[in-house]
Amino acid sequence: MNQEQSKKQIAILGSTGSIGTQALDVIAEHPDRFEARVLTANTRWQLLAEQARRFLPAAVVIADERHYEALSAALADLPIQVFAGPDALCQVVQSSEVEMVLTAMVGFAGLAPTIAAIRAGKPIALANKETMVVAGELINRLCRENQVPILPVDSEHSAIFQSLIGEVSPIEKIILTASGGPFRTFTREQLETVTPAMALRHPNWDMGAKITIDSASMMNKGFEVIEAKWLFGVEPSRIQVVVHPQSVVHSAVQFADGAVKAQLGVPDMRVPIQLAFSYPERLHSNFGRLDWFTMHDLTFEAPDTERFRCLALAYEALHRGGNAPCIVNAANEIVNRAFLEGRCRFLQMADVIADTLDRATFITTPTYEDYLQSDAEARRIATSILNL
Ligand code: NDP
Ligand code: MG
Repeated sequence: MNQEQSKKQIAILGSTGSIGTQALDVIAEHPDRFEARVLTANTRWQLLAEQARRFLPAAVVIADERHYEALSAALADLPIQVFAGPDALCQVVQSSEVEMVLTAMVGFAGLAPTIAAIRAGKPIALANKETMVVAGELINRLCRENQVPILPVDSEHSAIFQSLIGEVSPIEKIILTASGGPFRTFTREQLETVTPAMALRHPNWDMGAKITIDSASMMNKGFEVIEAKWLFGVEPSRIQVVVHPQSVVHSAVQFADGAVKAQLGVPDMRVPIQLAFSYPERLHSNFGRLDWFTMHDLTFEAPDTERFRCLALAYEALHRGGNAPCIVNAANEIVNRAFLEGRCRFLQMADVIADTLDRATFITTPTYEDYLQSDAEARRIATSILNL
């Protein structure tokens, strides 16, 4: 195999975001191993154009069609195909040249292109956890049918994945660690008045706005419980959320003999991104290393689902099954945005999600079309509750 052929051709859905730009850092560090084949964004066409000029992908997609002309003009002198619109996302991932798809776009919008990639037989590096939350059962079935592996990028799930390497015995328990977010020590009264700016200051991770708000409400951890259930085939009763504010232990697995295997490291998303790209190999990196003699306090505490009701709501959605997680995800996308824009109070987010879950049509065994409808219905309901 010559050098050219050995470079893995990667499509990055959401290359302008937090995960997307870090994925490009990884590719830039290993130009002999990886190549960005496709880059996509929603609205930030200038950044997408800059990335395209630097990484020279075969194609770029701007999901928001209004920016097609500007993006095309910016790239007119380069041999790069420019597409626009959500359907184009589903088409570019199917290109025969693409060897892996990193799903780094945010929200329900990730579902359709992920399904298109799986149907085309492309291995998935999964960052877009909403896809697994909404339709984990469907995604797993499609992956089985098309023999497509999912490599987790979410740091906790990557840690669990790494802890399972070489194991043949069942999981007794997953220990899913959580930083607790910026409001870990806040009382309920204090939570009444927290602002978006306060929620956006995450103590350990620099992430996109949506997941940062989800981390503050702990809905992110609830979603990760659902993601873990589908990725590792473990019932929710065997998934224990443990608050670990230092984010050094990225998660752990306990086995039948009581042994626990964990993966540790400095909090840096480039580590799980790079591993998803290079697995089963590990490549050298210059990312930070743990300093064992300065880690004086690694602490662990139980989560408080009274103050952080979103975590309880995610478990409730899992318990109900069917399309309940899809409903919770859609309602959450509405309140998350509303909180960011100052139209919803922090604690009100859980109220709106709980009401939406009770009002939306329950479907025991949803199809893909059912998910689309449930998502739309739950968005309508959550929006109308907010506007009351
Ligand atoms: P960002 O908001 O930083 O980036 C999102 C990316 O998706 C951007 O490229 C954005 O384009 C694009 N995008 C947003 N909406 C759409 C849409 N409707 N159609 C097409 N593209 C869209 O998010 P993050 O990188 O933080 O998160 C991405 C995913 O990874 C999320 O699902 C998140 O839960 C998950 N994740 C993130 C982690 C992190 O550390 N950030 C950790 C673990 C998981 P544009 O720039 O034009 O808006
Ligand atoms: Mg995570």
